[in-house]
Amino acid sequence: MRALLCCTVLLCALSLPAQAETVDSIPRPRPGSWSVDTTGTLSTSTLTKVDQWGSVMNDRGLGQLAVVVVNTTEGRNPRTFATELFNQWGLGHAGRDDGALLFIALQDRKAEIVLGDGVDTAADEMVSDSVMSREIVPAFKRGDPEGAVRVGVEGLARLLENAPLNTGRPSSPGFIASVRSTKLAPWFLGGGAGGLVIGIAGLRRWLRRRPRICGTCGDPRQLLTEHADDAHLDAGQRREEKLGSVDYDVWWCESCSDARVERYGAWLTSYSTCPSCDYKTRSESSTTLVSATYDHGGTVRVTVNCKHCSYRDSFTRSTPKLTRSSSSSSSSSSSFGGGRSSGGGSSGSW
Ligand SMILES: [Zn+2]
Ligand SMILES: [Zn+2]
Repeated sequence: MRALLCCTVLLCALSLPAQAETVDSIPRPRPGSWSVDTTGTLSTSTLTKVDQWGSVMNDRGLGQLAVVVVNTTEGRNPRTFATELFNQWGLGHAGRDDGALLFIALQDRKAEIVLGDGVDTAADEMVSDSVMSREIVPAFKRGDPEGAVRVGVEGLARLLENAPLNTGRPSSPGFIASVRSTKLAPWFLGGGAGGLVIGIAGLRRWLRRRPRICGTCGDPRQLLTEHADDAHLDAGQRREEKLGSVDYDVWWCESCSDARVERYGAWLTSYSTCPSCDYKTRSESSTTLVSATYDHGGTVRVTVNCKHCSYRDSFTRSTPKLTRSSSSSSSSSSSFGGGRSSGGGSSGSW
């Protein structure tokens, strides 16, 4: 009888048509989670990747990002839908408004990046447009939703990390230039030409591993193993490799006894660049001086030390006050901080 009941429930569940989503029906991610996929399309490893990114950005105080995947908004404008969801959840911290949402409606073939009001300057919008049109949409066109979400979340993390709000610069032309220069040759992105189906990640891997020729003698260089390359790195670089904040490749020319060192910075790291020695070995820890409550913000003491040089620093930082969940239907809490968006960002379809 029990088995029969189970079967009946299962059959009913299977025969339901694709559910239209409302803003209220999308479950709020639990604390520490930054992803929702109501379609069951994404693999656990991709969702975990999103959650790691979300936690790293949040822990570093750079902002809050989230990825939401649904089937359809059932004719509702996806941009309006996503902006409403952003504000209902309160993505980002109140006051800083440093949230960034990647919203995807798979059946509708629409993607939206919605930015909080603190991270939607012209420079931010330029990054958001670039991530949408050069990374997310091409991945969907290749039929690769996993890849689209991965490049999307990396793009949002990059956007937050380099946002004028976080760098303290009103705008950073150098960074914008570097975004522009990553524009790939048209022959590569041209899906219309057919044939070429390499993901951005695949391209990066290929660029990194492609053969190197020595400019002096013309012989091919040899890629040294992680162990052998240590001899060609300085102490700071070896420290970075040990901490996992940077990975170095050393390409050796036997004939010339010449080493060419290439640097690959990790995005997913809690280390940042030390203002004293310039290696990516600056580490932060914090202790709470005044706990944030629903009535007032808190204060934390941030202690900075460099894992390579003797650089030390200490300062206090204010934390946003706690916000009550606006959802009355459940007691589920989330990590969101009450940020707001007026709807800035980028749209894409495929
Ligand atoms: Zn050589
Ligand atoms: Zn240092």
